[in-house]
Formats: sequence, C-alpha cells, structure tokens
Amino acid sequence: MPLPPLKDQFDALLRLPSISCTQPNLDQSNLPVVELLASWLSDLGFDCRILPIADQPGKANLIASFGSGPGGLVMAGHTDTVPCNPERWQHDPFALTEADNRWYGLGSCDMKGFFPLVIEAVRNYLDQPFKQPLIVLATADEESSMSGARALVAADLTQARHAIIGEPTGMRPIRLHKGIMMERIDIIGQAGHSSDPSLGHNAMEAMHAVIGDLLQLRGDWQKRWSNPLFGVPTPTLNLGCIHGGDNPNRICAKCALEFDIRPLPGMNSDELRAAIRERLRPIAAEHQVQIDYQPLFPGVPAFETPADSPIVRACEELTGQSAAAVAFATEGPYLNQLGMQTLILGPGDIDQAHQPDEFLALDRLQPTIDVLQGLIRRFCLQ
Ligand SMILES: [Zn+2]
Repeated sequence: MPLPPLKDQFDALLRLPSISCTQPNLDQSNLPVVELLASWLSDLGFDCRILPIADQPGKANLIASFGSGPGGLVMAGHTDTVPCNPERWQHDPFALTEADNRWYGLGSCDMKGFFPLVIEAVRNYLDQPFKQPLIVLATADEESSMSGARALVAADLTQARHAIIGEPTGMRPIRLHKGIMMERIDIIGQAGHSSDPSLGHNAMEAMHAVIGDLLQLRGDWQKRWSNPLFGVPTPTLNLGCIHGGDNPNRICAKCALEFDIRPLPGMNSDELRAAIRERLRPIAAEHQVQIDYQPLFPGVPAFETPADSPIVRACEELTGQSAAAVAFATEGPYLNQLGMQTLILGPGDIDQAHQPDEFLALDRLQPTIDVLQGLIRRFCLQ
C-alpha cells in the first residue's frame, strides 16, 4: 500500500477513535492507531515494534526506528485523545474537516496530527545515510494514566539522547513544567452524642488540624521554592474537596479530604509526601483518630531540561523563540528519566486542546515540517 498523502494520513488517524479515560466505559484501545502508524512507517523502511502495555489489553506503544546504533533523536507523541462531547461540536470529531484554513477533528491538535508531520519531514531524507537513528515513539494513555510512558525502558529506545514531544505549544519550545500530585486523606474517628464530647473522637476536628498543617507546609514550600520562569512561580497546594459527618448532633466519625499539589522542578514528590506524613502522626495521636494518607494516582513528576542542552539550543534556533515553561504536564519527565534530554514542541495551541471543535491551523503545517527537518539534519545526518 503506497503511503497516502499528508491530509489523508491525518484523516485516517482521526477516523480511528482512541479515547483514553479513567472511566472504563469511555476507555478505548489505541491499537488501531498504532498499527496504522506502524504500517506507514514500515513502508518507509522503519523498523517497527509494537509493545503491549502489561495488564492493559488493547493498549500498546510503538517504537519505530530508522537507522541503527546507539544515540539518536526521538520524535514522540501520544496516540490517545481525551473523551469529547460530539453534540457540542460543529464538525465531526472523528474525521478531518477542512474549513477556515483549519483541519478540525479530535486529536488534530492534541496530538495525533503530529505523526503525519513527522512522516512528511523524514520522507525526503530516507535515501541518505543516517549517522544516528531517528526513532518515532507513539505512546498509549497519556491523557489518563501515562502508563505508556511509564512502561518505556531505555533499552527500547537504543539509549537515544535527544527527544522532542509534539504536544501543542504553538511551536514554542518548552523545557519546564510543574509536576502533578493528587492526594487523599481519610480520618476515622468515633461517633457519639454531640452533647458529650467525651463519647467520641471527632474526625472533622482532626481534619481541621490537618488542613491547618497542610496550609502551613504550603507556606513553607512557597518560601523555599520559587521559579520566575513559571506564570505561577511557586508550588501550589489546592484543597479540592472535603466530605465528612452526617448530622449536627452527632460527633463526626469520618472525614475525607482530597487535594492537589503542583511541585516545581527540583521538588521530590516522595519527600513532600514524607513531610505530610510526619505532620499527620501527632494529629492522629492528639485527636485519637486513625489517619490514612494515599496518593490518588502515581503522579507526574516535574519536568526540566537544562537551558544549555543541545536539543533546547537547536529548537530555539530553528523556531527563533526562547524555551519557556508551561502549566500542563507531559510525558517529558519520563523520557528524561530514561537518559534523554527532552523538549516539548508542537504545532497546535493548548487553547484548542480538550475543547469542542479542536483544530490545527493550516499555516502551522509547513513551519513544523521545516523545524522537524532541521532537527533530523542536525541530530541524525550530520
Ligand atoms: Zn496531549
């Protein structure tokens, strides 16, 4: 099968729904997307491996390499999308619609549309000798659990040294973002008649103390950590929801709190959790309650690639923009953990991601292809 033209590739990827979602009834396989990409890249001479994600049937990563040997450049993206509300779309989310000099469709911007641009960029160079391999990495479940990125190991990527991830950044290079932690504290006390406090142990009063300590910790962290490259320069801690008790005349027996923390690069989430745990112990003893503390999901680490790393310098030169920070999380920290220096750089705008009528503007296509070709020349051919 000959490789379809760019627009047809784009359309074909949008026509394969690949929603990932923590709600099982909405969650879909990404295998059709991965298999289609593998068939195109194999035709171009890439060596393609589809790696199933353990314990997640129907989910897989694709690693496609052109050229051999250690090192090289990774161009990465996720193959899943968020769920959508088709009734709020003017266009079909699951096909390409061209209108207003835009290509509309779910995943056009975030970010299945990145892969045809990579293919377009590389196809003219395939008759040249690659001194370092080019690796196209297509992951599963970025929008839900990041299990695809977590499942990667360095050997699969032939110890590649540089990577870009084509998430929507409006072609601005991004080298930093905060991490995400979502946590839950459950307090179990003992119910009793409200007229006599000695009959029970009030979980809500214990939670009051816990919240006081969390806000104090937040203040300490914000004094200690700050980075002016971020729009919100300090780490944040948000109290998101609280549930407890049942009736005014009963001593509250149960109270639960969920909160979110956005740590800056350099802050270690295990250390933050240890600091919280240390504050909980004396509160549990004083109020004679049981306090359980759990993360709601493993979290995404904060991300930072040094300003002077070759991939950052190259992308700054090719785009004419200096590298910055963003407020959303990516798979960047996982690739950096594998020994790569990773930069986030893609054609879409984050304002259009996760929205009805998601689109990619047509005037972003050629500049993206130009930048990707500049990276291929610099990191694979020279
Ligand atoms: Zn994305």
